[in-house]
Amino acid sequence: MTKLSQVSEMELEDGSVPWIGPHGQCMERLELHLTYTCPERCVFCSEEHRMRSYKKFPVTWGRVATILRTHAERGVKAVHLTGGEPTIYPRFIEVLELSKKLGMRTSVGTIGTMLRRKKFAEEALPLLDEALFSIHGPSAEMHDKLTGRPGSFAQVTEALSLCKELKPEFNAFVNTVITKDNIHLLPDTVALVADLGASLIVVSNTTPEGLGEDHYEQLAVPLPVLADVLPTVPERAGDAIVRFFGVPMCLLGKHATLSNDLHWDPRVTVEWQSAPGKVAFTGIYSWAPDRRRVHTNQCTKCDLKQVCSGVFDKYQDLWPTDALVPQGGGPTSTHSGTNS
Ligand code: SF4
Repeated sequence: MTKLSQVSEMELEDGSVPWIGPHGQCMERLELHLTYTCPERCVFCSEEHRMRSYKKFPVTWGRVATILRTHAERGVKAVHLTGGEPTIYPRFIEVLELSKKLGMRTSVGTIGTMLRRKKFAEEALPLLDEALFSIHGPSAEMHDKLTGRPGSFAQVTEALSLCKELKPEFNAFVNTVITKDNIHLLPDTVALVADLGASLIVVSNTTPEGLGEDHYEQLAVPLPVLADVLPTVPERAGDAIVRFFGVPMCLLGKHATLSNDLHWDPRVTVEWQSAPGKVAFTGIYSWAPDRRRVHTNQCTKCDLKQVCSGVFDKYQDLWPTDALVPQGGGPTSTHSGTNS
């Protein structure tokens, strides 16, 4: 399966980009990094190294407008604004206005910095289809510990609540990253954000990228613990949909179909990349959610191998993976469990 392709904007201009994926998928989702600044210091931040490298290269309005226009022309139908903290981008509202004018669905990944402010939220919400709020614990004690900033939990939960108050039908989604520290609180975190009005809750395994890679040994949740906790989560989510990102499907028990491996859209991520002698605003094409993930010996005979991307490569390098439960009873299976 194709992993990633990286194409500079120069190449984009002549149309020589792979807009059709290896299995016939169309590229309809743009992830656009608007800023490399963030007021928080999450222990697992996948972008920390890049923020350090590229903070001094502001993303200009002209560049943003060009990216939106060229991608709309090529058939992109949805833009997800990310960063850093994208809502602090000085022309954030104009980014939403242009995206809407171009017919795109709009979303933002946020810690709530500006959406907590009523005037800003009132301007943004008519132009915003959804927001993915980062909430990593059921209390300030845990969330603020992981984000490294007192007041962070209050800010993001108030922002989510304000958005639902101003626009009750608003698609308030939540991303919660799991680590050794907060995994035991995950069911409570999920119950809390469902109560706040989240309609989609993404449970994201710590990814070995950025600080997540630097601190992986301290952060990564052992596979047996994932197998114990994750299947208990959906029952705490009320009416919200749960998705599990970066988790082997066989650890989800009867909830394997909630794996994000099955619900993932191809995307082009546009961001600064280092090129010989310069930095370039570059499109990176992802056709499958298999970044940094590998199949293990246990996966060899698993019936789900074609759809499950396995474990993170760094996990396999560091620890045994014999807690995996190959599906379909292949010869490498050590358990009798199934997903049915
Ligand atoms: S055994 Fe491997 S391929 Fe099968 S569900 Fe588990 S991680 Fe995925």
